[in-house]
Amino acid sequence: MLETIKKIAQEIGPELDELSKNIYDNPELGYEEFKAAAWHTELLEKHGFKVERNTLDLPTAFVATYDSGKPGLKVAYLSEYDALPSIGHGCGHNILGATSTGAGIALSRVIDKVGGQVVVFGTPAEETSGAKVLFAEAGLFDDCDLALMAHPSAGYARSGKSLALFAIQFEFFGKTAHAASHPWEGVNALDAALVTMNAVNAMREHMLPTSRVHGVIIKGGEAANVVPEYSLVQYYVRSLMKSYNSELVDKVRRCAEAGALATGCTLKVTNYELPYDNLISNETMNDVFAETLFELSGIEIAPARSDTGSLDAGQVSHICPTIHPYFDVADGEKVGGHTRELASCTLTDYSKEQMRNTLAALALTAYRIMEDPELYKKVRKEFENAPK
Ligand SMILES: [Zn+2]
Ligand SMILES: [Zn+2]
Repeated sequence: MLETIKKIAQEIGPELDELSKNIYDNPELGYEEFKAAAWHTELLEKHGFKVERNTLDLPTAFVATYDSGKPGLKVAYLSEYDALPSIGHGCGHNILGATSTGAGIALSRVIDKVGGQVVVFGTPAEETSGAKVLFAEAGLFDDCDLALMAHPSAGYARSGKSLALFAIQFEFFGKTAHAASHPWEGVNALDAALVTMNAVNAMREHMLPTSRVHGVIIKGGEAANVVPEYSLVQYYVRSLMKSYNSELVDKVRRCAEAGALATGCTLKVTNYELPYDNLISNETMNDVFAETLFELSGIEIAPARSDTGSLDAGQVSHICPTIHPYFDVADGEKVGGHTRELASCTLTDYSKEQMRNTLAALALTAYRIMEDPELYKKVRKEFENAPK
């Protein structure tokens, strides 16, 4: 099977290179990835997938399914194709999407032997308000048994952790007054924001060092001689575990309540972006991926990274066993994420070769778990027992 999948990856490689290059040349922001979604779905249809477009009324989302018609596991590959403002594919989602779609196609060619289904989920807007969160809320991953994707990067690395993220905003409503002649008649919304931020700063000393709470005052008044009647504060609250993050969000909310109480303002609390769950990497799947990648290409994957932000793949990992490893496109160069340099790296012959290695490893990892019920039991057990 190893040689078969390796051969398939070489066969479909040129089509995927073209897909990646076209998307690179036509960068589209989140929820505007019309061309990218069209090219992905055309290719998947050409390879026998049944494509549902406009998933959840999101014009650039899709679900592409290849069903063996036999009982077995349902495997999800998560595809992304959104770009960043002004730097295009600085996160490399052009080659990321091609790799996931390629893994889906490769697995579909051999799935008849193990049964089950392979689904490529076209998930828009990873960089902003990720559609995986909406897919998760709508239950689209509920019957998936495994989810896999790999992100381009400088160097190979095992799937690790990402931070749960909660985007909370506070609006304070006070009362305007002349700041010199009648300040006692005013209710100062800026002061409410400042009390909140000071309280949050004090709270930081007593939170886990792995959490992050960072905020800005978006609006704090219009003129120095007018008591501000309105202020708007936005925070990101992040932690390694969703459960702890919820506790932290409650504390931050209480800081804002303190600001309102101290100043006499009224307070409105809302979310300004979708919340992301922390990524729980399935170590059993991680091991299979590492072994498979090594057998296919001799590449030794590095341990998971400790520096991390937040990913919408986190949501999926709370619903089914998931991995999100990194694959190398930089060939020894020091290249950071969200840069023009990383974008250009996705077009080299070296990165094309790594895309083939990676999609083959993603396909074969799933295949090996699909054909081995004991192995899947182990994956599942680890998933069920993982702290959330
Ligand atoms: Zn990014
Ligand atoms: Zn990315």
